[in-house]
Amino acid sequence: MAIVQPLDSSRLRLTSPEDGRHLEDLDIGTKDDVDAAISRARSAQESWAARPVAERAAILRRAIDVLVDRREEIVEQVRAETGKPRVEALAIEVLPACDFLNFWCKRAPKDLRTEKPRLHGYLLPMKKLRIRYQPLGVVGVITPWNGPFVLSLNPTVQALLAGNSVVLKPSEVTPRSGELAVKILHEAGVPTDVVQVVHGDGSTGAALVDGAVDKVAFTGSVETGRKIAGTCAAKLTPYTLELGGKDAMIVCSDADVERAAAGAAYLSMFNTGQVCLSVERIYVVDSIADEFIARLKEKAAELRYNADVGPLFFDRQVDVVSRHVEDARSKGAEVLVGGSRDEGEGLYFQPTVVVDATHEMDLMTEETFGPVATVMRVRDEDEAVRMANDCKYGLGGSVFTRDKAKAERIAGRLTTGSVMHNDAAVIYGVPEAPFGGRKNSGVGQVNGTRSLRGFTHPQPILLSRFSSKKESIWYPYGEDT
Ligand code: NAD
Repeated sequence: MAIVQPLDSSRLRLTSPEDGRHLEDLDIGTKDDVDAAISRARSAQESWAARPVAERAAILRRAIDVLVDRREEIVEQVRAETGKPRVEALAIEVLPACDFLNFWCKRAPKDLRTEKPRLHGYLLPMKKLRIRYQPLGVVGVITPWNGPFVLSLNPTVQALLAGNSVVLKPSEVTPRSGELAVKILHEAGVPTDVVQVVHGDGSTGAALVDGAVDKVAFTGSVETGRKIAGTCAAKLTPYTLELGGKDAMIVCSDADVERAAAGAAYLSMFNTGQVCLSVERIYVVDSIADEFIARLKEKAAELRYNADVGPLFFDRQVDVVSRHVEDARSKGAEVLVGGSRDEGEGLYFQPTVVVDATHEMDLMTEETFGPVATVMRVRDEDEAVRMANDCKYGLGGSVFTRDKAKAERIAGRLTTGSVMHNDAAVIYGVPEAPFGGRKNSGVGQVNGTRSLRGFTHPQPILLSRFSSKKESIWYPYGEDT
């Protein structure tokens, strides 16, 4: 069963991952559609940017009320396209979206205010420096299907606060969830041409990247990220890439085993494991491995479909997860819990625990994106760090230990964009934390206090103090210069 099937070159058929029912046929946006949206966005941008940042923030802040009022609609829309449990639609999509709006609206007047740094040099003491955070123009935002509402909303809101207009291309797997984020911004008062949606598949996304945009903010796979980087490099268009991950969880000998096992089960399987920051590899120190694995097995076996674990969101994921588990089994890993797709209409894959994994297996090297907790025993924490870093991705990572200082020491040795202590995956929901990947996991960052400025050009303006004394060096150079 497919959730996204091309009907012809101009339309896609979308079906529910929960039960296969027909959702809609979606028109694929053409290059002309994309160019027309960019052109409208460009015309609308100047007057949007001319409004004081506090006014833009006041408009976007109203989106929190709209979002809260329409939360059930968001939950139902996301659930229709993804089948994720209700609690996850609320916890992964709605609540972080409110937090992001609140945070960016508070930060914007401060972060985007013109700066007046003091000059300390001897060369140009007669000058004053101003730094203005100018909008870039039109930002193309391209998003994936795993967090379709919040991952569309977050970069869009930041770009808008910075005075840009936005053309959003949400995933073809979850088009209406991304579109709903934009409708909420319209209802809050953002003019319709200032933020627009163009639907379609990769060809539509490619047309957006190739179009007259001034920045591309992309979240999605490494493969697509490389293509986008290639196009942007040729055009000299700035971009950020938030890409895939293969996050490691390190369980130290002094870990709280109960919390670590619950964390391993939950943080490998929430959103059915389809989170860029999911725990995809677990390195547990030998001395507590038996106890940890026994507890993890119990926790995973308790998980119930729909309350705890939803279906995979589309058919390609079922193939990838099945292939990775079979590859591990054939190379000597043991499947302790689950391990196969469930019969029936939906795209359900059993919550799965695999032990005795090695780095010869795809399950430990490629992004699996499924409800699988994969465990490898290690001698000690040093070996855990070495194995965790032996990876082409570098998005997040986690350390479970009772010793905070040890957690910080290990964090400092991990070649990942972020690290969490006694927790995993949740850092994207912390707007204060700069979030981005190392290695194949991305270029640039979203979130954190500098994020809004990533949607601007910091323009230094050097002003003269006309009342000041003669400058030390100026044409023509005199003899006493
Ligand atoms: P994808 O790359 O297949 O698609 C993402 C978006 O790009 C979609 O809207 C798609 O239509 C569009 N697209 C496809 N080809 C394109 C092209 N040539 N040019 C421009 N746009 C194109 O990714 P996906 O399968 O939708 O998402 C899953 C991936 O996203 C996983 O690897 C996951 O780890 C990653 N992800 C990363 C983060 C993060 O913040 N680092 C967050 C969520 C998901």
